[in-house]
Amino acid sequence: MKLVLLGPPGAGKGTQAVKLSEKLGIPTISTGEIIRNAIKNETPVGKIAKDTIERGELVSDELVLEIVKDRLKDDDCKDGYILDGFPRTLAQAEMMQSVENNIGVDFVINIDVSDDEIVSRLSGRRVCPSCGKTYHVVSLPSSCGDKCEACGEKLIVRKDDSPEVILNRLKVYHELTAPLTRFYDEQKILYTVKGAESLDAVTAQVMDIVGRQRR
Ligand code: ADP
Ligand code: ADP
Ligand code: ZN
Repeated sequence: MKLVLLGPPGAGKGTQAVKLSEKLGIPTISTGEIIRNAIKNETPVGKIAKDTIERGELVSDELVLEIVKDRLKDDDCKDGYILDGFPRTLAQAEMMQSVENNIGVDFVINIDVSDDEIVSRLSGRRVCPSCGKTYHVVSLPSSCGDKCEACGEKLIVRKDDSPEVILNRLKVYHELTAPLTRFYDEQKILYTVKGAESLDAVTAQVMDIVGRQRR
């Protein structure tokens, strides 16, 4: 099963991807997480991407495509994968499906959330800098206060979750990523869930779509 999670920043893609990966036994490829790790490790990719990501802009289509192609070579991707945060532009969607790259997509789950809700999701998001686990101050607080439940590390606010950068990311989303819903709708592989519902209610909608695909 090869699926794409689409939606604005903070829609809950990463959160739902964790549950889907567990349920389906396939890995999640999060381009944002790969890039953040590259920045942390000061790799060449990290050096190119650092300023871009902190401004809330997108890194180049060519660079992310290379990152995804590289990750897909790993053995654990051979039975399928969940793409979280890729593709994010029409050019990426077209490049991945080209004969040359041939990155398959069986279906796309679009998590639909209003801009107001996005602002409160992103401003309340807390992440573990060590293991990447994501929390929310209101909807998903850590049982260990300001520390990660999984590894005890102190939770942080992502640099791009600051108020000004959030607004820029929303603008970038509407301009460059939102058109992908139409692109996949025309291919008749788009399924939209109501992302404003509770975490569990969104998971139920997502699992329902996945269940229908498997039949
Ligand atoms: P994305 O990967 O799309 O950027 P995340 O999965 O990181 O989004 O979620 C953004 C923030 O919103 C996180 O703090 C997460 O805990 C919280 N969150 C995710 N889904 C929901 C939901 N259905 N209701 C309330 N908060 C949510
Ligand atoms: P969110 O879903 O919360 O916006 P991500 O972790 O998916 O965050 O992405 C964080 C940042 O990483 C983006 O703002 C962008 O700079 C970069 N990025 C991630 N995926 C892509 C992509 N497919 N194309 C271009 N830039 C990307
Ligand atoms: Zn942790």
